[in-house]
Amino acid sequence: MRILIVEDERKIADLIADVLQSEGLIPEIASDGEEGWFLGSTETYAAAILDVGLPKRDGISVLRKWRDEGLDMPVILLTARANWNERVAGIDAGADDYLGKPFQMEELIARLRALLRRSTGQKKTTLEAGPLRVDLRQMRVSVDGRPLKITPLEYRLLHYLMHHRGEVVTQEDLVENIYHRDQEPDSNAVEVLVGRLRRKIGGDIIQTRRGFGYLIAEEDA
Ligand code: CA
Repeated sequence: MRILIVEDERKIADLIADVLQSEGLIPEIASDGEEGWFLGSTETYAAAILDVGLPKRDGISVLRKWRDEGLDMPVILLTARANWNERVAGIDAGADDYLGKPFQMEELIARLRALLRRSTGQKKTTLEAGPLRVDLRQMRVSVDGRPLKITPLEYRLLHYLMHHRGEVVTQEDLVENIYHRDQEPDSNAVEVLVGRLRRKIGGDIIQTRRGFGYLIAEEDA
């Protein structure tokens, strides 16, 4: 899942990006409000981490603009710790959560995880489909209790399909959500990836809907 980071302090942005990456997420950084707004409204993100104090356009105004455009991705606002009116303005503008600076990276990640679970209707930290088990905290996958070795890209694919269990997910959806914006591959790459994953987890968990996409069925057959 892609996560948008809008933060002008490069050191903080890079630090957040590193941690997200180690969580199996795909971070993308925008360093001012205009770029952040633009990426948020033109690309697909599972969530955004948005600083309030930004050059060109402040975070509250970015958020308000997204919400006016009907964009409902979850947003965590980074505010100045002492500034309560910033938080009130942020919540009024449609923030889902906020965190005062300076913050502990662990807290940001915990809040982001909670937000992602809420937004996808997932309360659990482990997802299961038949013999398949995906541990979201440890980013581990097992089949019949047997741990599998999978790549970060395979994990992201599986994670995305499991989060959208019961829905047909198109190849375009997958490309937008599991690859970095600058590394979008051709659609054939998704087929190859699905094939590779099927060989690891068993052939019948990920189903193909010819011409539509892929699906992990809601009910175990
Ligand atoms: Ca700032």
